[in-house]
Amino acid sequence: MSQGTKALFIIFGATGDLAHRKLYPAIYKLYKKGFLGESFAVIGTARREWSDDYYQDVVMDSISDLTESEDHARTFASHFRYQSHNVNDTKHYHTLKDLADKLDEEYDIDGNRIFYLSMSPSFFGTITSHLKEQNLVTENGFNRVIIEKPFGSDFNSSKELNDEINASFDEDQLYRIDHYLGKEMVQNILALRFSNRLIENSWNKASISNIQITLSEDLGVEERGEYYDKSGALRDMVQNHVLQMVSLLTMNSPKAFTTEEVRKEKMAILNALKDPVVTQDEDTEFVRGQYDTSIDGETKGYRDEDKVDPESLTETFVAGKIIIDTDKWRDTPIYIRTGKRLAEKTSRVDVVFKPSQTALFDDKPTVLSILVSPNEGFKLLLNNKKIGPGMELESVRLSAVRSEETVEESPEAYEKLILDVLNGDETHFAHWQEVATSWKYVDQIRKKWDSFTDSIPFYPALTMGPDEADTLLQNDGNNWIYKA
Ligand code: NAD
Repeated sequence: MSQGTKALFIIFGATGDLAHRKLYPAIYKLYKKGFLGESFAVIGTARREWSDDYYQDVVMDSISDLTESEDHARTFASHFRYQSHNVNDTKHYHTLKDLADKLDEEYDIDGNRIFYLSMSPSFFGTITSHLKEQNLVTENGFNRVIIEKPFGSDFNSSKELNDEINASFDEDQLYRIDHYLGKEMVQNILALRFSNRLIENSWNKASISNIQITLSEDLGVEERGEYYDKSGALRDMVQNHVLQMVSLLTMNSPKAFTTEEVRKEKMAILNALKDPVVTQDEDTEFVRGQYDTSIDGETKGYRDEDKVDPESLTETFVAGKIIIDTDKWRDTPIYIRTGKRLAEKTSRVDVVFKPSQTALFDDKPTVLSILVSPNEGFKLLLNNKKIGPGMELESVRLSAVRSEETVEESPEAYEKLILDVLNGDETHFAHWQEVATSWKYVDQIRKKWDSFTDSIPFYPALTMGPDEADTLLQNDGNNWIYKA
């Protein structure tokens, strides 16, 4: 087994939900697989007064399903220390520095530090400036900062945030998490597109009619009503995950599989997004909706959720038509939809091909579906001849869906992304230019919707969104392929 990368993690927000559900399990898996050796330590910080022992118990609890043995888990957890900390208080950073230096020596870490900001972004600027000013940044090792979403709430606030962070850390030290970019099947999009001649050659407007992206959740806002009511689906999902997927699905082949080349090609797509048309009539390219009580009356509507304004106009659903204004893609709409309390939880892409050029058959479109989650894999819907006399067609589905066991065993997004940070690989993280350009696009839609102050279309909870989402495609003679 390798020695693994040496690193001291300092996790801000160590008592939070994300740390417990995702970060500790991810770090444990990296430890178990040898990507982290014994030269690693974690300082967890948050407001609560926890002892090291209590913190280590929390960490052990979070990895209880994954552990090889109690001893192994205990050895792993012994690398964790807790420091109660108010991010606004300068003197706490001195204590944090002393502890960091002590652990660096104790575990022979050589100054490598990963600062994980798993807290509200309103604290990012304060934390990064203190890290720099109170000398938590080392001279001898690498210093990398992992930043959670949301990165601002519009272009202006994201720029302000970025400027604040840039005052202390350079762009190449920043790892902006978009966990979709860590998902196996999202990473597989480039492999599928650029390693199969059959697909590579037909990935263009001559062959593809339209591309459909569906990121649907069946849950409502749960405990996040307060945040969500200010955010909405457009900011929460479209600015980041949806636009990242759009760029991966349509970018040109990078010259090499390097961070710089991949980002360059993604940026070319984001820069070419046509300004969205947003109106209150049928010409609109973006529609929104909010979930109402379900048809059976069992599931409450959004306005009845905890910490949500009872007259809220916040959208819990967005569907849109994205046009990439290049010769290659102008005629191929990318339809997207995402929302909460939809009929089913799924993330998938359906690539709808044009009918054959022969006119010999009344053929149905070939559809390539990329299943991102919870199922992972591909499905390809083809036409083939029905057995028997004549030349009648029927559809056949080629399916390469990974087994539940394979999915279960494959590394989770956070595990892969944290490993990338350890390796200094930024390919699967969002560059500031990508974030800025996506916000500028989304801001145009937001601005229009904010000016439509009177109403919002409703959809019954646990359906696939408002009728307007279907009309959007029907106006172009298309239909959603995926129907829950
Ligand atoms: P959370 O509310 O559960 O935890 C927040 C943490 O910040 C807690 O540890 C709290 O003690 C700490 N904190 C708050 N104010 C503080 C202060 N003044 N000084 C010191 N510590 C303070 O939040 P979470 O769900 O763990 O999310 C953390 C970040 O990750 C957020 O930016 C969130 O948007 C993002 N995120 C979370 C999820 C998720 O699934 N939970 C998913 C994607 C992104």
